[in-house]
Amino acid sequence: MPYGRGTFLAMKKNATNLFQIVIFLLLGGAFLAGVSAIASNGEGAGELEPRAILSEISVTAVTSEGAAGDDPSQQATPLPTIDIANVPVIEETALEPALNPIMNIGQEPTHNFQIYEVERGDTPNRIADRFGINSETLLGGNPWLSQESSLLQAGVELTILPIDGVLHEVQVGDTLEGIAELYGIPVDDIIAYEPNNLEFPFRLYKGTQILVPGAVRELFIWTPPKLPDRPEGYIVGTGTFVRPVGGGCVSQYYWPGHPGLDIALGEGSAVYAMDTGTVTYASWASGSYYDYGNLIVVNHGNGYETFYAHLSGINVFPGQVVNQGQVIGATGNTGRSSGPHIHVEIRLGNFRDDPSFYIGIPGGC
Ligand SMILES: [Zn+2]
Repeated sequence: MPYGRGTFLAMKKNATNLFQIVIFLLLGGAFLAGVSAIASNGEGAGELEPRAILSEISVTAVTSEGAAGDDPSQQATPLPTIDIANVPVIEETALEPALNPIMNIGQEPTHNFQIYEVERGDTPNRIADRFGINSETLLGGNPWLSQESSLLQAGVELTILPIDGVLHEVQVGDTLEGIAELYGIPVDDIIAYEPNNLEFPFRLYKGTQILVPGAVRELFIWTPPKLPDRPEGYIVGTGTFVRPVGGGCVSQYYWPGHPGLDIALGEGSAVYAMDTGTVTYASWASGSYYDYGNLIVVNHGNGYETFYAHLSGINVFPGQVVNQGQVIGATGNTGRSSGPHIHVEIRLGNFRDDPSFYIGIPGGC
């Protein structure tokens, strides 16, 4: 494309400051001319206020330019009238190179995500551990897993993000600032993630995906994949879990130093079996488990076990078959407990998983 008027117009916005520099140079020349003109008029420059001098000079500059073009065919484009008081200060940024509007088309994100197919017996934590990310990031990379969803079944393919964060699909009207605000993550962090290919002026492309590092989507409820069948006559749970108590609030969430969920509520509240199974333990916890106080353990016959700790009452005995939702005991404050609450665990093999994934959470205290 020739460097013609079209190019100039396209660059006009960026070239505004350059234009102002030209004006200043012209005015600078006019200033010298004006000073000599005033001197030749015999008027003392000292008699005029500085501001008055400037006004006179600006008139002089425009007039002399106009006078040069008596012949209309040779007349240059007339300069716009400049109010000198309103000419902005030229900042250093004005000297930065103007962007070329033709070259600067930007680049769409170039992500390269792994895909993982969910297998029987998988849990969110196990999948996340395998890839060295937080379990919340599974949702971050797979927005279709909504809170009510039971879509995370064996055979389903998950997008695995390389780092913790959320994958945001760009919608019409999105801005980088808006996305940053939505997830509470600094804009710079989003730009710094290289595969997003965000370079000034940070164009977003509808339908593409921006990875927001460190962002977290809301917790979701995990419905576990179907587990292998067991021999007939064996008590097998449904593979789903209900909440162990009817209310309360979370006084301690699941974290590596606390592989269960604490729900605080009044002593003596009913405790329900989270799934159908066989009671394998129902008494004061002994040995290394003494912290649990009165404890019930239910084996669900499908690889899962549930633990109910700090109870004030126990309504079941070892070997008893219990149904999902059946009352098995009462909440308390026994063992190492600093207030009435129930500590529950969901174990798969020896792995203690986050109960929130199975039963949701009633909210923090
Ligand atoms: Zn606890």
